[in-house]
Amino acid sequence: MSTIETIIIVGAGQAGASAILELRGNQYTGKIILVGDESHLPYERPPLSKDVILKPEATKIEILSEAKLAELGVEVIRNNGVVKLNAEAKTVTLKNGDVLAYDKLLLATGGAARRLPNFDALGQQVYTLRNLEDSQALVPVLQPKRRIVLIGGGVIGLELASSARFKDCQVTVIEMGPMVMGRSSPQLLSEFLLAQQRQAGVDVRLNTQISDCRLDGEDVVITLADGEELRADAVIYGIGIVPNAQLAVDAGLAVDFAIQVNENCQSSDPDIYAAGDVATQLRADGQYRRVETWENANLQAGIFARHVMGVAHPQANPAWFWTDQLEINYQFVGDMQAAQWHVRGEMDAILGSACSCVLFGVTDGVVVGGITINAAKEMRHLKKMISKQQPFDAEKHLDLVQDLRKIA
Ligand code: FAD
Ligand code: NAP
Repeated sequence: MSTIETIIIVGAGQAGASAILELRGNQYTGKIILVGDESHLPYERPPLSKDVILKPEATKIEILSEAKLAELGVEVIRNNGVVKLNAEAKTVTLKNGDVLAYDKLLLATGGAARRLPNFDALGQQVYTLRNLEDSQALVPVLQPKRRIVLIGGGVIGLELASSARFKDCQVTVIEMGPMVMGRSSPQLLSEFLLAQQRQAGVDVRLNTQISDCRLDGEDVVITLADGEELRADAVIYGIGIVPNAQLAVDAGLAVDFAIQVNENCQSSDPDIYAAGDVATQLRADGQYRRVETWENANLQAGIFARHVMGVAHPQANPAWFWTDQLEINYQFVGDMQAAQWHVRGEMDAILGSACSCVLFGVTDGVVVGGITINAAKEMRHLKKMISKQQPFDAEKHLDLVQDLRKIA
């Protein structure tokens, strides 16, 4: 292997920060340059829809401090993103015109909120959420009694609905599909999430299309396809993301909406890797899949670092993520498309934040997925069962007297 002198990481977010720790953790001693287009050092995004809004002073989101980056020997460039990638010359050009050369490059540029141009065109009272400034901008918006319309009943929509209810706002969620969190949650859980939101006073509209929007004085007026008009003091939309893959497109790398990478997170150029929300990875079933989670960003950063250092990858765990809504912690692991779901404990929406149970996702008699509701301590047992492809036994798994730790 030729010597690697310089690794450039583009994107000072979750995957970028994690890649630094993984490179140094795997004994890489060469130069690391971290290039970010934000003014901040890497920070965590999960608190942006929750604690940064609800308790801004008490919330720390920094992943790597200036002192830690210095200790790790990282050259940090902020507020000066990469605008061009020349894969042949192995250089990147920064916004200020500087050109930097790399031996290996990691594209960890994440994604941007997918836009609704007709709402953006209103020019005021319309918000999205992706970065720290977006989150801070919502603090004065989410005030008691304000009428807030959230477009999109995905994770952003539901987490913000929860935060807005804590702030005593009047909240409406408009979802065009038939389910909330339909991309990441099975029907059974989606119905539970919906019941929680409605119980908390959120007006959730499913199967609902928007036909128009306009300003009327201080109000945003949203016209629904059935002609109903909703009036709002503010509209926040969360309708998914678009991967920040333009650098890769312009450089001629293989991109199908996101940057295509192999099992080692290598793009179609072997010296250029991609990780996190911007990457779509080749899976064992021959399909490319993008996973937009905190854990995946960290995992793929690790895959990149180990491959660069020639270290074998450990066996992958089943995919995991979480969401916090209305004081309930939900954790998800493995396959959410499992054929059947079985509940251990009482999954009663009326219990609200006092509800605690475990859901087993089963396909062909085997545990392939799991969900905990306020039962985080059971998550590692579910992970183990899925990894072991454990046969599902209703008598054992659903019996509350049985300890899941002993069954796993
Ligand atoms: P990011 O963390 O977005 O980092 C990408 C960075 O690259 C950004 O700083 C961006 O500005 C920068 N960049 C882009 N283009 C350039 C360029 N040309 N040059 C230089 N820099 C560039 N996941 C969970 O599992 N659980 C949660 O509870 C959860 N909550 C979330 C809440 C919110 C509000 C959001 C937005 C996300 C949440 N996620 C959650 C998802 C998780 O945060 C993301 O999957 C993760 O941040 C992806 O990491 P990343 O490094 O790919 O992208
Ligand atoms: P998302 O989870 O993909 O959900 C977007 C939702 O909006 C989907 O239900 C989608 O329906 C719906 N939608 C799309 N267009 C619409 C329209 N025009 N009108 C009404 N509804 C519409 O994306 P997100 O909630 O915007 O989240 C953005 C990113 O943040 C994602 O990467 C997400 O993973 C991340 N995030 C994660 C967490 C977490 O893991 N806890 C929390 C917050 C944010 P269809 O599916 O039918 O298109």
